[in-house]
Amino acid sequence: MTEKFPPTVRGTIVANRLMSDLSWLKVGGMADYLYQPADKDDLSNFLSNTPKNIPVFIIGVCSNLIVRDGGIRGVVIKLGRGFNNIDILDNNKISVGAAALDSHVARKAADVGIDLTFLRTIPGTIGGAVKMNAGCYGSYIEDVFESASVVTREGKLITLNKEDMHFDYRSSEIPKGSIITNVILKGNHKTSVELKNKMQSALDKRSESQPIDARSCGSTFRNPSGFSSTGKIDDVHDLKAWKVIDNAGMSGASIGGAKMSNKHSNFMINIGDATAADLENLGKEVIKKVYADSGIKLEWEIMRVGEPLTE
Ligand SMILES: Cc1cc2nc3c(=O)[nH]c(=O)nc-3n(C[C@H](O)[C@H](O)[C@H](O)COP(=O)(O)OP(=O)(O)OC[C@H]3O[C@@H](n4cnc5c(N)ncnc54)[C@H](O)[C@@H]3O)c2cc1C
Repeated sequence: MTEKFPPTVRGTIVANRLMSDLSWLKVGGMADYLYQPADKDDLSNFLSNTPKNIPVFIIGVCSNLIVRDGGIRGVVIKLGRGFNNIDILDNNKISVGAAALDSHVARKAADVGIDLTFLRTIPGTIGGAVKMNAGCYGSYIEDVFESASVVTREGKLITLNKEDMHFDYRSSEIPKGSIITNVILKGNHKTSVELKNKMQSALDKRSESQPIDARSCGSTFRNPSGFSSTGKIDDVHDLKAWKVIDNAGMSGASIGGAKMSNKHSNFMINIGDATAADLENLGKEVIKKVYADSGIKLEWEIMRVGEPLTE
């Protein structure tokens, strides 16, 4: 390991990068450094030559993150061009770079008759989707996941199979500080027309029920029912976060520029000039009010990262 930080890279590394520019919610202070690796060897070299006391944090497109107003200490890593390949392997398998957008992957897969249609309406990257076990309308990444190529915090290149991932409701486990660089997904084979229709109806369904044009991170809180013992969303005790928020009278509630959407009360939106603190404080208020109303303790689905602003 070299002593000099940052080490020489083939990608780009910049100091003091404003995170609000990169985040879906348009909030967040400075990252000490933003590193965009050229490819997986560049990433591996960077990680093995970065002292272990310097924190690293990988982002996709921050579609599930509130970055706090004081920013992120250490290095934020964002995968770019070298990681957005989409390669068809056979009739039902596809190899995708972790920076590829879910919606692009769904459309490319549909072109060749592979059903990954549930990804069409999820705004993130494949790396973020795997980490979060993203899913909707009854399908989850874990259903289509075969393996992932990963670079560990020490810079080692490893492969993780499904049993290594410990997928759960909106989560998976990869070694701490590791970065997914490529994923193999498999889907059922259907006709392209069938898949395109399916994607269109998912898009229609979303725009009917969710504020898709607003700045949000999708669902703010996990549905209290979560997974059942069969590993799928529990339809019997189907308890939706939006319902308990509605019941607590918090639909439309706001703090500063943060508001719980009237269209879907589990969507927290930045209506213009919200700070991360506005968003986080509104979330805390919703948790408090829902608990007082129903005894249910909502859990965040959106991750909050970084430091609050200090006076
Ligand atoms: C309008 C809207 C609708 C949404 N609907 C849904 C939905 O239906 N279902 C759903 O599940 N989610 C939904 N989301 C939430 C979000 O899109 C998903 O959680 C998505 O998978 C996050 O991907 P991302 O690339 O933006 O990751 P980020 O938000 O940037 O990061 C999320 C987590 O993934 C980790 N991560 C990102 N990339 C990598 C990588 N390469 N290697 C390792 N870890 C990585 C980050 O460190 C972080 O822990 C929605 C969001 C919005 C804005």
